[in-house]
Amino acid sequence: MKYPKIRELAEAIKALIKGPYTSGFPREPHVPHPNFRGQPKFDATQCVGCLACEEVCPVEAIAHRDCLEDKANPKRIMIHYTDTCIFCGRCEEACINDHLGIRLSGDWELSFFERKDAYETIEKDLQLCEICGDVIACKDHLLWLSERLGELTYSSPTLYLPRLRDLGIVDENLVAPVKDDHRSDRVKILCARCRRETTLTTK
Ligand code: SF4
Ligand code: SF4
Repeated sequence: MKYPKIRELAEAIKALIKGPYTSGFPREPHVPHPNFRGQPKFDATQCVGCLACEEVCPVEAIAHRDCLEDKANPKRIMIHYTDTCIFCGRCEEACINDHLGIRLSGDWELSFFERKDAYETIEKDLQLCEICGDVIACKDHLLWLSERLGELTYSSPTLYLPRLRDLGIVDENLVAPVKDDHRSDRVKILCARCRRETTLTTK
């Protein structure tokens, strides 16, 4: 008869007292190690929609779509493709908002019935040029910039008007939405091209 070795016997006794080494998943929920690198997740309250994470992602797992059909309520959709992501953490590292806009999570459950459903999105409000209607940036991104620039914000209406509107000091409808070829055009939220044109051509 073959007897178990001492080590195996000790392991068996330990398992009897402490329970098995393997987890009870799927009977019990699996709790990953604190250092586990799960899929990154956007935080809509922290993300300012700057697209830095999209720029640095090595596998193009982050994308965006600007929805301009509703001119009164333009949106930027930030998309994270969970089936493409390799959990490298470059997006979190590059996030301009103190690495809080997108963060690696402990989420490891990545199974999908349909691959086309393997993505997550958040929405951000867009700011359009008040003359030509081109996309300038997300509203939160302009506010983020003005917070960091401090008093220098007041050198550009494109930065200080969103700030004053956010504070409720200036009304949304105070500025005429049409181009009037006068100095008042300069006190609008403008893209770089319209800012240059209004500065050079208005009297
Ligand atoms: S973790 Fe890496 S691969 Fe995944 S979205 Fe971020 S940068 Fe892209
Ligand atoms: S704020 Fe961060 S998460 Fe949001 S778009 Fe910019 S880099 Fe990406």
